[in-house]
Amino acid sequence: MWHILGAGSLGSLWAVRLARAGVPVQLILRDSTRLAAYQRAGGLTLVERGNARLYPLPAQTAADPTPIQRLLVACKAYDAEAAVAQLAPRLTADAELLLLQNGLGSQDSVAARVPHARCILACSTEGAFRDGDFRVVFAGHGHTWLGDPRDLSAPAWLDDLQRSGIVHDWSLDILSRLWRKLALNCAINPLTVLYDCRNGGLAEHPAEVATLCAELSELLHTCGQPSAASDLHDDVLRVIQATAANYSSMHQDVAQGRRTEIAYLLGHACAAARRHRLVLPHLDTLHARLLNHLQARRLPSH
Ligand code: NAP
Repeated sequence: MWHILGAGSLGSLWAVRLARAGVPVQLILRDSTRLAAYQRAGGLTLVERGNARLYPLPAQTAADPTPIQRLLVACKAYDAEAAVAQLAPRLTADAELLLLQNGLGSQDSVAARVPHARCILACSTEGAFRDGDFRVVFAGHGHTWLGDPRDLSAPAWLDDLQRSGIVHDWSLDILSRLWRKLALNCAINPLTVLYDCRNGGLAEHPAEVATLCAELSELLHTCGQPSAASDLHDDVLRVIQATAANYSSMHQDVAQGRRTEIAYLLGHACAAARRHRLVLPHLDTLHARLLNHLQARRLPSH
């Protein structure tokens, strides 16, 4: 049984694919109000290649007393720790958590809340968004890397993902993947918010992008992640070109007045630099400009 905490974009996408492959799933929703709304909706709707289909998956709230052995944490990074803490009394002695959060920082907070559970980290390039309540559009097929920095052995349940068509690999260096994704995010997303542009718009700011990449590379080396730093600038330029027509996830969050995950992305990078007494003036300035931008729009800066 997979318990799935958070029936948003990625949580729904995982839940539906697992359930379709015959793997038992149980959604855990925020509270009884959300559970009632879910029951009125009749289930989750997944839209794939323009076709919408309703999946009446079972759902409960954290108040349900049944034990949890395998938990997919599909909340935003800023919600993950509190959401998992609520479930701590239900976790079995051999519980395993799969953490889908973007960026870094939330995984350590979750692991500290449930020290006996195994925490597996994920880094995904899949894309999904909500176009209605309990309705999710599968927008971009991608790849998911999974790994556990404390135990390199792959769990047996990777077979469930295989059967479910969730394209994945077990990574022996998941932290390197998460740092690389964080660095790409820091070099692209904040600038797209500040210049109010699509990713391709950053081609007009080559010097700023290059300076940020140089500072981010220095940070990755200092944090013991040299392979995450290798060819970072080239990769950032490649992503800017390959996704030129897209708005970054942070741009979309700000445009729609939603809270961003800044504290787990650029905020985490700047905090790591400070901890290592590394002076990265352009990254700090970018962070300050982004915080001002969010505050001016009354959006949380954490
Ligand atoms: P999302 O659509 O906002 O979904 C998050 C879900 O968590 C919401 O349904 C929310 O409930 C639920 N939630 C929050 N607190 C909860 C609690 N205490 N109990 C139960 N449910 C709770 O977010 P997402 O886009 O799926 O992103 C999840 C994570 O995956 C993020 O870190 C994101 O950066 C990462 N990610 C997303 C994508 C993507 O394409 N979407 C791709 C790669 C990585 P409500 O519905 O009640 O608000």
